Amino acid sequence: MTYDVVIVGGGPGGYVAGIRGGQLDAKVCLVEREVLGGTCLNRGCIPSKSFFESAHRVMSVRDGEAFGVRARYEGFDLAACVARKDQVVGSLVGGVRKLLEGNGVDVLTGDGVLVAPDAVQVTAPDGSKTLVKARSVILATGSRPSEIPGLPVDGRRIVTTDQVWGLTDLPSRLVIVGGGVIGCELAHMFSAFGSRVVVLEALDRILATEDRDVSRTVAKVLEARGVTLRTGVRVAGAETGEAGVVVSLEGGEDLPCDRVVVAVGRRVNTEGVGFEEAGVALDARGFVQVNDEMETSVPGVYAVGDVVGQQMLAHVATSEALVAMHNALGKKYWMDYSVVPYAIFTAPEVASVGAKEKDLKEQGVPYKVGRFSFAASGKALCMGAPEGFIKLLSHGETGRVLGASVVGVSASDIIGEITVAMRMEASPGDIVTTIHVHPTISEVILEASEDTMGLSIHKMGRRKKRG
Ligand code: NAD
Repeated sequence: MTYDVVIVGGGPGGYVAGIRGGQLDAKVCLVEREVLGGTCLNRGCIPSKSFFESAHRVMSVRDGEAFGVRARYEGFDLAACVARKDQVVGSLVGGVRKLLEGNGVDVLTGDGVLVAPDAVQVTAPDGSKTLVKARSVILATGSRPSEIPGLPVDGRRIVTTDQVWGLTDLPSRLVIVGGGVIGCELAHMFSAFGSRVVVLEALDRILATEDRDVSRTVAKVLEARGVTLRTGVRVAGAETGEAGVVVSLEGGEDLPCDRVVVAVGRRVNTEGVGFEEAGVALDARGFVQVNDEMETSVPGVYAVGDVVGQQMLAHVATSEALVAMHNALGKKYWMDYSVVPYAIFTAPEVASVGAKEKDLKEQGVPYKVGRFSFAASGKALCMGAPEGFIKLLSHGETGRVLGASVVGVSASDIIGEITVAMRMEASPGDIVTTIHVHPTISEVILEASEDTMGLSIHKMGRRKKRG
């Protein structure tokens, strides 16, 4: 079988590359060993957002009385939450399959191995082998959860962040190892469901890569909801029995619980796929090395998504996939990582794009900060979500927006406006002269922009003395 492009991996990197290839009338084959959609659809973004919504419903019912809703909360049915998640995932996976079919992409189920710069060997579940030849190859094999010594994952008592979405009985005591993105999202959701949650983080704070004020705000809210955050602790081991698990910490403390989720990061899927044998260079951390056209060290072989490890985000994979597919078809596209927004789905949500204040300080870049608190947003108060703030950073001389960190309700939605502002090289002045709908959460961006000039309307500023 000969194609223009063969893609290995059907996650948001691989399947998007496939659809774009079809749209451009290329003959494309996509090889996927499991289910289309990869981590994002099956074990990551989508399952977690479905759970996130369940957590939101629980909190709405529980807080209902203040909003005039009289309802009795009778408890949480994790099995029903998982069933709903499965429906959402099934529908999206079906949609991806239809889109690939509709764009003329051949989907092969099996293990793909790069056997030459222009050939992928596919072993189907029944053991039969097919050699797929193509002018170009796109590698999009993704990543899987990391594990740590002393915490043997058994899929039952000790689970990975891939497996946690299949638990159907709610653990009354849940230990989450790792206070990063996934650890904090799970802590929010499972504490809302009713689990007593303990987060064990090795570093001195949760969400350690975020702005300090952001991680402090999330920590405060999680703790107020009953989550125990233990920072600066390391797990020494775990003993699993019928009654549960006892997690032991370095220093001798034991923590009995029902279940443990290991959320300590992800590692790339580069073993057993023939990359190195075919001459594809990996960097010192094991990621596939690519240039800004997403081409690996082997001409005609491209790589996208977690496997190149720029940022392990579905939307980054998607963007890389479009660049790679266009280049594989003879166009000239470059990947630009200068403006990458992301969000963390705790409550309140966290979202960020561009520079962080700490980086600007370290790099000696002159900058201005505009801040605004969600407690002064009419919409946030109506939503019963006064926690959080926005910190908007702009260049001290050129005035260009350099980045923002937001923690607050709908942060994941409003970060798009700042992302566009950055792409357009806009300044807080441009935002200030743009009318925003009232009352909306997006007004916090307007107010933060005004605050850059000391002119936020709904914030008490320093008043200049009149002479
Ligand atoms: P992460 O790197 O965000 O966090 C892992 C945390 O575990 C770190 O804080 C680390 O210090 C801690 N840790 C590591 N070893 C430890 C140990 N032995 N004991 C205690 N703590 C330990 O990784 P993650 O949360 O697993 O997420 C994986 C990837 O998926 C990340 O790249 C993340 O950005 C991505 N992701 C993104 C989203 C999103 O965009 N909303 C959601 C989920 C995951």
